[in-house]
Amino acid sequence: MPDKRIVLLGPPGAGKGTQAQLLCDALNIPHLATGNLLREAVANGTPVGTTVKPYMEAGKLVPDEVVVDVLVEAIDAAKKNRPGGYVLDGFPRTLNQAEALKKVLNARGESIDLVILIDTPDSVIQERLSQRRSCPDPLCGAVYNLTSKPPKVAGVCDLCGKKLEIREDDKPETIKVRQAQYWKDTAPLVEFYARRNRLVKVPGSGDLDEVAAVILKEVREDRGIVTSGEWAKK
Ligand code: AMP
Repeated sequence: MPDKRIVLLGPPGAGKGTQAQLLCDALNIPHLATGNLLREAVANGTPVGTTVKPYMEAGKLVPDEVVVDVLVEAIDAAKKNRPGGYVLDGFPRTLNQAEALKKVLNARGESIDLVILIDTPDSVIQERLSQRRSCPDPLCGAVYNLTSKPPKVAGVCDLCGKKLEIREDDKPETIKVRQAQYWKDTAPLVEFYARRNRLVKVPGSGDLDEVAAVILKEVREDRGIVTSGEWAKK
């Protein structure tokens, strides 16, 4: 299969992180999650970490120029260490970021091949986020759901044994800020990629494995591309 550069889009709680990881395992390509990269910077106390910490704790977007630099560095490292493409999770989140990504990739003769919108109703999202528990270790960052994907031992990360937490930005007040931010800044990307014939819309309310199977099928077959104006109907 040729290189696959894939973006996963969807509101907070749509299951992007989990689905990105499953897709990366299936395709054997890296998972580049800006949220994880930024949390790692915060945990390591780097200058980027110090800049972004207050934004992240408030559930606000970090400035475009900071996150674009972090992402480009991660793309370059991925290309060197593990060619074959990548899945972007949590990036782009604004039109500015999408334009910046397009410019960086164009300069290398590359482009995003597929954008998967995980379309999930608000009611499902509220319920999922309230059940979410995360591993606080920035190098692990595993995410669980008390109902659909519980850890083997209650409260403990299966992968690294750390005590699971409710992420600061998964608290109810912060979730509201993040959702409002999604509809204002990130949702316009749906039309941006539909206009470029890169968008596939996948229903995200089924169980984990069902959604993963639909995503993998779309990626393998490049079917169901939604074009501008049509996406709202599918
Ligand atoms: P996530 O784990 O993807 O929900 O991201 C956690 C937090 O990291 C977000 O609430 C933002 O503060 C920040 N963040 C992650 N990705 C981006 C991005 N592409 N643009 C701006 N801020 C981001």
